[in-house]
Amino acid sequence: MKPTNKLQRRVLDLSLNYTLPINQIQKDWAYQNCLEHKGYANKTNAFCLDCGETFSHDLIYRKRAVCPNCSTRLKIENTNYRTHKQHTFFAIAEIVEEFQVIKNYELKSYHKKGEKVRYFLQPILEYWIQPNLKYTMVGLCHNLQGYCDSWGGDWSIRKERGYYHNKYEVYPRLYYPKSNFKKEYLKYGINHNLKHLTFIEAVKIAPKVPKVETLLKAKQYSLANKGNSYQLESYWPSIKICLRNKYKVKNASDWIDYIELLKYFNKDLRNAKYVCPKNLKKEHDRLVKKKRVIQEREKLERKRKKVSEAQKRYKELKSMFFGLKFSDGEIVVKVLETVQEFMEEGDVLKHCLFTNEYYNKKDSLVLSARIEEKPIETIEISLSKMKVVQSRGLNNKATEYNNRIVKLIKKNLKTIKSIKESNYTNELLAS
Ligand SMILES: [Zn+2]
Repeated sequence: MKPTNKLQRRVLDLSLNYTLPINQIQKDWAYQNCLEHKGYANKTNAFCLDCGETFSHDLIYRKRAVCPNCSTRLKIENTNYRTHKQHTFFAIAEIVEEFQVIKNYELKSYHKKGEKVRYFLQPILEYWIQPNLKYTMVGLCHNLQGYCDSWGGDWSIRKERGYYHNKYEVYPRLYYPKSNFKKEYLKYGINHNLKHLTFIEAVKIAPKVPKVETLLKAKQYSLANKGNSYQLESYWPSIKICLRNKYKVKNASDWIDYIELLKYFNKDLRNAKYVCPKNLKKEHDRLVKKKRVIQEREKLERKRKKVSEAQKRYKELKSMFFGLKFSDGEIVVKVLETVQEFMEEGDVLKHCLFTNEYYNKKDSLVLSARIEEKPIETIEISLSKMKVVQSRGLNNKATEYNNRIVKLIKKNLKTIKSIKESNYTNELLAS
């Protein structure tokens, strides 16, 4: 957009005419430090993604190698790919009149076997920051539509607006080491080492939150990025241990997750042995696994307790029928005597006997029809109506034995009724 006020006109003019263009030394620094230097290797040979030349697989030492052609130190990846692309951002800080200027650049690289790497580098966006921390943005237009993400168009004033409200927020991978920062920012630890948070974020929060200032000075940028969150507050004693031991927290979220696990296990959160693990991921994963085992055990314990309470109640309700059994010579029908049996019967016949808690139903008497100890069907009798409610086999269906089973039960309903009534009379006599 066109500048609409005096400040914007001045900033655009300064940007176009009074800033230093990027020089070759800065470009070379960016190529060297902002991109990865890799070699692609297969079983027989390898090639350097920087110069494109092939070299013998014998020169690879572990996952690293030095290119015999261009002497670049390479990280080796095992792959059959022959091309590669990289895309990154870096920044150079400069002071122009009263402004702190952060100049952001886009850097792309194209790699192909047999060819030297090609670079594409362009300035994309500048933040012009006034002493009162208000800032003006000048740069290219950031196109973000569908899969498109590119910078182009005129060099002019830019504003955040609409749906992509942080379209002009750039997180540079690195700042040029000889960048110029104002003294007032340097005193908060904001310098070319800044990572994980933008310059604007850093200068806005550091003067207000002393903990963030401390973290910036200690180069703990990932933790500093947590701003004034409750996490910084609650784990500050542990963070201080890290600072004292010069332990760098690379990923604050992972580390906080790990500290929360330590807390779960009642570990001393002020002991460097726990707080500063050599291998964070390994320790984190080990504790996650341990916690899962404990949670499983607790779940099982809760289930066991529930079953044992249910068993007590079931016994109170139905123990008068325990031991009841009748047979037609082949099929044996017996009363289920424990909640455990309900669970097993439900598992074998794949029905909802256990999950629907039939052992808790006061009016139901549940029996199992078996042939040679193997459950065939489960029968529910209504004690108030003295009749068979249902008799179901595998997957809740009736089996070929259904008629015989129901007939056998009906023949014996008398016995069940008399047990029920004698128990009723006993209760009356007892009261
Ligand atoms: Zn090379």
